This record gives sequence, C-alpha cells and structure tokens, in this order.
Amino acid sequence: MLALFTSVYCADHHSEHEPVVVNLGLPKTAGYRYCAACSDLLRYAIERRQRCPLKPKPSCKHCEVHCYRPGHREKVREIMRYSGKTLIKRGRLDLLWHYFF
Ligand SMILES: [Zn+2]
Repeated sequence: MLALFTSVYCADHHSEHEPVVVNLGLPKTAGYRYCAACSDLLRYAIERRQRCPLKPKPSCKHCEVHCYRPGHREKVREIMRYSGKTLIKRGRLDLLWHYFF
C-alpha cells in the first residue's frame, strides 16, 4: 500500500531525480520506481512494520505504538493524502480497491 502510494508521490514530486526500480523484497512492490529519498523512507517503514511488536498488527491508524520516527509520520501522512487524491483523480480507484479489499 505505502509502496504504491510512495511511487505515485515520488513520480510527481521528485521527477527531477532519476527514479530507480527498487527491490524492497516485497512481491507487490515489483516495478515501482522511487528516488533515493523515497526508497529510504519506504525501506524504513517496511522495517518498522516487520518489527511491530503488536500481534495481530492493528492498522496503523489504530496503532498504539508510534513506530515512526519524528517527521517520518508526517511525511507518510502527506504521501498517503496526496497519492490517494491523485489515484482517485486519475480514475485508478481499482488500485485502491485492490489494496483495501
Ligand atoms: Zn522521491
């Protein structure tokens, strides 16, 4: 989910950087492109998620452990907001649908 959103956000905000296909080790993220900063952010988020101490893991909205470092959370929120809007505008609700259901 975040992987998709970050690639949308990055393509629109960081297109001056050469995007790279980043292998994050997750099948769903195959083929998405990010600049170095975005792949860093994403890698960090994935790492934190894997280390989440709560089982079963609640959705981040309801999570009591604020696992993101300061600033990171805001950045992620901005990315989610922007990309959600963009996908809806582009009529790519199917992508959102795919991730939510
Ligand atoms: Zn980027």
